[in-house]
Amino acid sequence: MPSVTIVDHPLVQHKLTLMRRKETPTAEFRRLVREVAMLLGYEITRDLPLATVSVETPLMETEARVLAGKKLCIVTILRAGNGLLDGMLDLLPSARVGHVGIYRDPATLEAVEYYYKVPQDIAERPLIVVDPMLATGNSAVAAIARLKRDGATDLRFACLLAAPEGIAHFHEAHPDVPIFTAAVDRSLDDHGYILPGLGDAGDRIYGTR
Ligand code: URA
Repeated sequence: MPSVTIVDHPLVQHKLTLMRRKETPTAEFRRLVREVAMLLGYEITRDLPLATVSVETPLMETEARVLAGKKLCIVTILRAGNGLLDGMLDLLPSARVGHVGIYRDPATLEAVEYYYKVPQDIAERPLIVVDPMLATGNSAVAAIARLKRDGATDLRFACLLAAPEGIAHFHEAHPDVPIFTAAVDRSLDDHGYILPGLGDAGDRIYGTR
């Protein structure tokens, strides 16, 4: 069954509220996205496999645990995904990174791909796909379909906010991919924006409006 995990940690909820405020300036918004990405990343990676190794502390030798298996790959959906990518990389500095460039056609709201570059071996890696707003779901659904065509099987999706419509669309297309979000909002407006939402995430991260 598909799953949606709402990361309701008080720090995440507090930071999300600061991001929702229209007065929050660009620099602060960008910093908050980065911080929330780290906190989401903490939850998303909770089930990563561990191996036991031997280490020498200043006092004695002991067995201790380290991450096992292939390094993660974070796939950012351009451009707003890059805000989340920065925080995820703070947490997972050796992760590989893939980029999928997708824009929403303003008339149809359909996803149009204009860029795609990912590590060659994504079929063997756990992938975290990041995009702050799961609104219609079109971009996330298209990006994940593209990654699956390249052999990806171990996928998770992280966003700041999700709309019920986006979750339904996503689950229909990719029931095998768990979603991690800070909140599920009420609905979409006629332009595909999440209500109450936080506005255009890309514009707010990069100060383009
Ligand atoms: N993309 C955004 O940046 N914000 C929304 O509310 C919906 C899609």
